[in-house]
Amino acid sequence: MKKRKLLLLLLLCLCVGCEKRSAEPESQNSQESQESQSRQTDAGEPVTSELFAMDTYMSLTAYGENAEEALALAEQKIEELDELLSIGNSGSEIYGLNETGKAAVSQDTYDLIEEGLAIWKDTDGAFNVAMEPLMELWGFTSGNYQIPKEEELAEKLALTDASKVTVEEENREISLETEGMKIDLGGIAKGYTSEKLMEIFEEQGLTSAMVSLGGNVQVLGKKPDGSLWRVAIQNPDSDEAYLGVLETSDKAVITSGGYERYFEENDVVYHHILDPETGYPADNGYVSVTIVSEDGSLADALSTALFVMGPEKAELYWKEHSDSFDAIFLTTEGELAVTEGIADAFTSDYEVRVIGK
Ligand code: AMP
Ligand code: MG
Repeated sequence: MKKRKLLLLLLLCLCVGCEKRSAEPESQNSQESQESQSRQTDAGEPVTSELFAMDTYMSLTAYGENAEEALALAEQKIEELDELLSIGNSGSEIYGLNETGKAAVSQDTYDLIEEGLAIWKDTDGAFNVAMEPLMELWGFTSGNYQIPKEEELAEKLALTDASKVTVEEENREISLETEGMKIDLGGIAKGYTSEKLMEIFEEQGLTSAMVSLGGNVQVLGKKPDGSLWRVAIQNPDSDEAYLGVLETSDKAVITSGGYERYFEENDVVYHHILDPETGYPADNGYVSVTIVSEDGSLADALSTALFVMGPEKAELYWKEHSDSFDAIFLTTEGELAVTEGIADAFTSDYEVRVIGK
């Protein structure tokens, strides 16, 4: 799985403009790429950084005078958020909240939970920040995978009622009102992070930058030569090929797919995006969903939510919210579809259906 992520990262680099570094991606080994830091100061050259955080490979690319300083601040922010949000790290805020059921939290954690709850309401429960007990039950948090028994599923499902997560703005206090409830921000944290990185870049006066957090991309402005960023959308069936390329600027491009994390038992694949209605891996008709939006957190949360919804509900949801995002869908039937707002910006070797309003 890690190898697959790295290949995806390299593929993305190839497409989003680190041409120099990834001209021969196959020859790059993971050890080198994790440790390599290219710090060029020439204004025309990109400054890049690669790191492993939030359980994934990340690459950051920035152009301009303050690029080096901006990347240092960006790395600091990633580490800070990783420390706050990691469910496995006993020092994290989320870990503390999950242990005690009530905690005053940082602005970042508060904002994430609040936004997650708003999206839970808006997606009719498809995106749910309270899925941790089920993630744990299936073994996705520990790696000790198992297919749960029906009684166990029912018991944990009862702990995922997000209406029992309450927030109190004044003290930034979060309460989990049912004992045993736990928060998991894995479906929104990377998009929130990439959004925060764009804010840092802007504060540093940058006008051209790109980050890829485990294949979830967000770009600032255009490339320095004025052309659009080219973001490759992964083909889940192939490490070498991709579904297509999206030309874009100032957007997050975030993909959810069952293929990103899963285990297999008796030839059945069980993946990490759970349907809050059933407690089982969502199996409603999508292989992958990519969301394109100016808002990184929204793009991340919606990639998960629309994957859970399946084509019928997801297309309807887009029609009602077409001002705030666009999407690229790959169905289990093998159909590739794209919403009309990005239809002209997306090129693919495959047949593509355009979803209109
Ligand atoms: P993503 O790759 O953005 O789709 O996020 C998947 C991650 O979100 C999983 O690994 C879980 O941590 C969490 N998750 C799983 N199912 C859901 C769900 N229905 N709503 C919100 N988060 C979820
Ligand atoms: Mg997501």
